[in-house]
Amino acid sequence: MGGKLLSIGECMVELSQAGEGLLRKGFAGDTFNTAWYARACFPSDWSIDYFTAVGDDPLSADMLAMMEGAGIGTSLIRRIPGKTPGLYLITLKDGERTFSYWRDTAAAKKLAEDADHLRAAIEGADIVYFSGITLGILASDAADTLLSEARRAKAMGKTVVFDPNIRPRLWPNKEYMLKTIEDGARASSLVLPSFDDEAVHFGDADEAATIARYKALGVENVVVKNGPGGITLAFGSEPAIHVPSVNVDKVVDTTSAGDSFNGGFLSRLVEGVSPAEAAAHGAAVASTVIRHHGALVSPELLPR
Ligand code: AMP
Repeated sequence: MGGKLLSIGECMVELSQAGEGLLRKGFAGDTFNTAWYARACFPSDWSIDYFTAVGDDPLSADMLAMMEGAGIGTSLIRRIPGKTPGLYLITLKDGERTFSYWRDTAAAKKLAEDADHLRAAIEGADIVYFSGITLGILASDAADTLLSEARRAKAMGKTVVFDPNIRPRLWPNKEYMLKTIEDGARASSLVLPSFDDEAVHFGDADEAATIARYKALGVENVVVKNGPGGITLAFGSEPAIHVPSVNVDKVVDTTSAGDSFNGGFLSRLVEGVSPAEAAAHGAAVASTVIRHHGALVSPELLPR
């Protein structure tokens, strides 16, 4: 039996070096990346929709065309006259990548401003997915709107999934950041944190501490990703279990590792396999993604 996943957040224009002073244009963003991998991995009777706001400029039109070409629904995306998408540039120096962002005036910051539209979109979904980046780009009243709609969805029995994806530079201060991330988790039934972020910002000593902290906030299911160290998951009242990562000899680019894990993991969960098997699939998808350049790896390269 199919359904609909709604991923909420910001997709940006990505400019990367193409040699001889040329730049290559792409599109990416954490929640969009997860929608991309969800589309590649979910059963075909599931629809995957993206929720954001874009402008009415040619770049926004290109972005929507790319999403539609990937099989991701765009009918719920707001088009705001006079606005443009956010943009980032990747600069390579001595093999190290640096990111410069232009996103302060991005249309996506207005994604929660039409609360009725947001509510209707969420009501039409079975799984609602958002992240700490989604919350971080919003003004505090807009973040509150999204949080209250997520709480409402959870109370309606929908699966509400949250990846904390903690990015300090998006937030005005640490206290507000941590409080809002916790509010995001409280509004969710499944939280998918990356241990590195949680250790740095919440001071967790190990994955068990991350799980205990989110469980104490009322999150039923927690899946902690820890790079090559594997995945620790605690579902419902079951004891935590550990699932190994896939061994990757040569990591090319870890961009989107966590986002792709999430898409692969959720795709198996809706098919009714155990959370451990779903995590193994998420790890297999992520291990393929990190062997390739860029956030969006072609679906043909992904494990079935
Ligand atoms: P992270 O958010 O860094 O914990 O990564 C998300 C997922 O990507 C992990 O749970 C792993 O499945 C996979 N992953 C990331 N880095 C590696 C690595 N070096 N080797 C194998 N798998 C990895």
